[in-house]
Amino acid sequence: MDGETDVAESHMGPIRGRHLFAGPGPTNIPDSVLHAVAHATVDFNAPDFLATFRAGVEGLKRILRTHHEVFLYTASGHGAWEATLQNLLSPGDAILMIESGYFSETWALMAGKLGLEVRTLPADWRRGAEIAALARTLAEDRAHRIRAVCVVHNETATGLALSLPEIRAALDGAGHPALLLADTISSLGCFDVRMDEWGIDAIVGGSQKGLMLPTGFSFTAAGPKAMAAHGTARLARHYFDWSAMLNRPHRSFVGTVPVTLFYGLQESVRLIEEEGLEAVFARHARLAEGVRRAVQAWSGNQGPEIFCIDPARYSNSVTAVLMPEGHDAEAVRAIARGRFNVALGGGLGRLERKVFRIGHLGDLNETMVLGALGAVEMSLKLAGVPHGAGGVAAAMAWFTASA
Ligand code: PLP
Repeated sequence: MDGETDVAESHMGPIRGRHLFAGPGPTNIPDSVLHAVAHATVDFNAPDFLATFRAGVEGLKRILRTHHEVFLYTASGHGAWEATLQNLLSPGDAILMIESGYFSETWALMAGKLGLEVRTLPADWRRGAEIAALARTLAEDRAHRIRAVCVVHNETATGLALSLPEIRAALDGAGHPALLLADTISSLGCFDVRMDEWGIDAIVGGSQKGLMLPTGFSFTAAGPKAMAAHGTARLARHYFDWSAMLNRPHRSFVGTVPVTLFYGLQESVRLIEEEGLEAVFARHARLAEGVRRAVQAWSGNQGPEIFCIDPARYSNSVTAVLMPEGHDAEAVRAIARGRFNVALGGGLGRLERKVFRIGHLGDLNETMVLGALGAVEMSLKLAGVPHGAGGVAAAMAWFTASA
């Protein structure tokens, strides 16, 4: 990797022009949201702010397609993971984590440290878990020891999305009463999430991806079955305690409310609804397909390839790109950053140095995607990574055909 890093560093000087952020989260923040969050401090219990806050949360519920309770925390996604487990489960309860990649592994690790019994539905990270295997596991759990099935809807580390309705159907088919908990941190606001219609008991989300906000709040939406489970859940909790939150004017936040983010939320909900949720999803699908066509072109000549090998599970918010054997993804990222001022995501956990990730979510258009793809194509060349020609051209051809 050192040779390639030198290529990047030898051209480093003052960097001009706009930084192009092409990681899978946090994401680009629209200028109007930036302006909205540049707000002076206000009393977070004052009626004016409460009105802004409640309008933002109502908007968030429309994006989640839920009418249920939403609890918010001043924390990144990890906080919402923790809060969700703590509020729904008791020491020693078994959960079934559907393996998808680094983020399912991390959520499982957390659950174990909190005192839960973690069972894993294993999966090949390039294909994702088999729904038939999930159905079998649930059917075999005749005593209904599994209290919750946890799934990462969109595995940001691998660029693979699972179907939540298929998972719901597996639970229903087995007649299993476990709660269904879904992490939608990198899918919400990018592709379809329908909490109530799909029967998801609790959804975890965060501010910094499809919602196009700075990192700073995360949340759990909790349906009636989750609220009933909360009534008997005994895991220790304090800051994240939903019962404490229900007594507060915001029905959220055991502590200071990050007020400025809610001026931003109101604006980001306005932007999403102005475009229309379906149009937002269609844009994400179109941009994602352009990225995939570029990577498919590069994969010629034994070049890098799309990590996910099940096209039905391609993620429309992030593409993980697997490097050819013997080539280091970090060298490509270093050149993209140092030479071209473009930030790509790195490989996580066991995929470190093996993949880089192109984020295509949030406030994004074709030209921004082409900028990122151009930087990748040049970086592959400078890093001496074999690849097929014409990735950017393939994306352009798709964007002109699908415009
Ligand atoms: N879950 C998913 C799917 C994620 O992509 C991330 C972060 O990228 C997390 C959980 C953890 O969230 P955070 O980094 O905001 O704590």
